[in-house]
Amino acid sequence: MIPRPIQRLLLTALYDAFAEWADTFAFACRKGCATCCTRSVTMTSLEGDGIMAFLAEADRPPELAAPAFQPTPNRTGQCTTNTFVAAHLRGESVEEAESWDLRPCPFLKEESCSIYPVRPFGCRLFASLDPCAASGVAEMPPGYLAGATALLQYIEHLDNGGRWGTMVEVLAGLNSGQADGCGESTAPIPGFLIAPDERALVEPLLQGLLARKVNAQTFEQWLQIARPTSSQ
Ligand code: SF4
Repeated sequence: MIPRPIQRLLLTALYDAFAEWADTFAFACRKGCATCCTRSVTMTSLEGDGIMAFLAEADRPPELAAPAFQPTPNRTGQCTTNTFVAAHLRGESVEEAESWDLRPCPFLKEESCSIYPVRPFGCRLFASLDPCAASGVAEMPPGYLAGATALLQYIEHLDNGGRWGTMVEVLAGLNSGQADGCGESTAPIPGFLIAPDERALVEPLLQGLLARKVNAQTFEQWLQIARPTSSQ
């Protein structure tokens, strides 16, 4: 398992690579637009640790005692990103989560994100070519979601032994010291869901990230170290 400090460096490298790629699109998203900031955002415990450290530095851990972070009653198990992709690759149908919680994210304050520097990747990938406040539907360029999903898979793969779930439930678990009881176990990359006509758009993102060096190893080498028996 990769030590947490190096996992965090890898996460930062991934965030940077994605931000550079996303900047090549003309998205309509602006500060103050928060239609996509709901309690259904998902993340890994790796990202959760970064948020916990950010909150601790600002004396904000008491916020996690708010009702918004209480475990959802009658929660049913969900597919992580990698278990979802694995099921699709096996040709199995995958049921959507029954109860997405579309209430505002508890970190949304005055229409701005109060943990912006450490917001999880599930927030960073939100984007739309058209303002989506009225329709509630984001319009993404071809290949964008495939690229973002591949990076979600990398993060889950790196967080070997970690947890995956909604941001609120993962943080509640970490805050109570019962992280193992929240969400689902993370899983290795089983392959990708990138259509042939999306490859030309997605490859620059993936190849650029895989070649990035972190602590003298490439990102690709770190993926192998994280879960040596899996395929990327
Ligand atoms: S963490 Fe920030 S960016 Fe993410 S949903 Fe909450 S308010 Fe929005």
